[in-house]
Amino acid sequence: MEVLRIIKEHLPKDRPVRVTKITLKVGKLTAIIPETFKFCMDVITQDTPAQGAEIVINEVPLKIECQECGEVNELNEPIFICPNCQSHKIEILSGRELYIESIEVEEPDEEVCYGNQGS
Ligand SMILES: [Zn+2]
Repeated sequence: MEVLRIIKEHLPKDRPVRVTKITLKVGKLTAIIPETFKFCMDVITQDTPAQGAEIVINEVPLKIECQECGEVNELNEPIFICPNCQSHKIEILSGRELYIESIEVEEPDEEVCYGNQGS
């Protein structure tokens, strides 16, 4: 999976680290269901430094700008019609995002506490 490849690229290769937290930006239009995605991440990160990492998903709302009346609206449903004037001439401002916002790692030789994740 693409996300895992990106995570691996972010990890230092010269020393062992453990990924404790991965924060992702996920646009509404990507049709990713957070719960499903978290489950998938649990599976694909098995036996990798990211195993057991906390997955935080920040949903990016679907935002459109109407080319007719200039209204900017946040939509809960992917209906591409301006709620103000019913025009179909709209531009998508956000909602297609899918990227890693941050990755927190823990190095064994450092005393860093990231909270209680159990043992
Ligand atoms: Zn409009």
